[in-house]
Amino acid sequence: MQKTTPTFEQQLHFETQQYLAKGCRWLSVLSFILAVVIGITRLLNIPELNFTFTLISILPLALVSLYGAMRDFSLPSSQKINDYGRFYRYILALILCWITVCNWLILSAPFAQGKVESILHLMMFALSIAFFPVRRLLLFAVLIMSTYMASVRIFFFADELFFPIMKMLSFLGIVISGQQVIEKWFRKSIFKDVENQRLVNELNQLALTDSLTKLSNRRYFDAMLTKEIQHCERSGSAMSIILMDIDFFKKLNDYSGHQRGDECLIELAKLLKHQIKRPRDVCARYGGEEFIVLLPETDIAGAVEVANNIKLRLNQLAFQHPDSLVSEYVTVSQGAAQWQPGINAEQLIKQADDKLYEVKATTRNNIAY
Ligand code: GH3
Ligand code: MG
Ligand code: MG
Repeated sequence: MQKTTPTFEQQLHFETQQYLAKGCRWLSVLSFILAVVIGITRLLNIPELNFTFTLISILPLALVSLYGAMRDFSLPSSQKINDYGRFYRYILALILCWITVCNWLILSAPFAQGKVESILHLMMFALSIAFFPVRRLLLFAVLIMSTYMASVRIFFFADELFFPIMKMLSFLGIVISGQQVIEKWFRKSIFKDVENQRLVNELNQLALTDSLTKLSNRRYFDAMLTKEIQHCERSGSAMSIILMDIDFFKKLNDYSGHQRGDECLIELAKLLKHQIKRPRDVCARYGGEEFIVLLPETDIAGAVEVANNIKLRLNQLAFQHPDSLVSEYVTVSQGAAQWQPGINAEQLIKQADDKLYEVKATTRNNIAY
């Protein structure tokens, strides 16, 4: 019944992975379009350009980005921690392809510096948005691109050192400060999401749990019983319930005090939790001093066995009841019923209640079915 809320760190990791996957996909789409546009325009503008050379330069980028867009970066379903390796590998491949294309642009047209720089600016801008949640990855990508941009100016165009290096440093500064601002916003929104989810889970739990015994309450039990009956109708499997009521509980309250009565309810709840352990089993506080147990995949013989165990354990627990007429300890009367085709939840509980009443009317501290 408990639904765990992911911690902030888990959610941050998960959303970062999703964001990176999306970032890579859009970067891939952008790269693919740019590669195709560059290839076509260069071939159209300079028809005598070597077709094979153009193709060899452009093709790796087109293939890598197509691969990234289509296959590898479909949203990650696993939440494996530190799974950023594949992003690094992919980004490195993409950047190497971009550098190849830019080299080719420079070589094939010596005056394309402005165009090459514009494309690199665009790519760095795209990289810094696509990878902002992981600073290492962002710096890794932007550093390679800006180093390349600086070295193009220094080595290909024999620029003086000052301008390219200042430009590279300014670029890094802008990217890092931008990253910090967006990251803050990103974390804040994840924190809010996790907090909201936690509150919703807590409210749900409060609505379905009995505050004194911490067992499920009647509302939860009724919902689960309806669900299990639907399951039985489809699968034809067996299912039973046990309804129990503490004997002379009012006398315990009156004799030993209300607080002692509360303690008794808590102890019985603990005992039930201990005894009813299968994953789909449910035990709930059904009313003041009434408890109910749902046993899926269990026939009436199995239910009676469980009821006998409860009786035995309760006897071993030896919770003093000085005013009981049937024992020196607290006892319960139990009525068990097995679900039969065509019976609804209400009718099934009525059957168990009738059996419980039989015990109450005769011996108490017993089981009827
Ligand atoms: P029987 O053997 O026939 O079941 O008699 P009983 O006294 O157990 O049953 P009855 O229905 O006469 O009394 C139940 C009492 O349980 C009345 C009510 O005050 C008390 N009760 C209900 N809820 C709580 C609770 O949360 N804490 C305490 N201490 N008592 C409760
Ligand atoms: Mg009662
Ligand atoms: Mg009672």
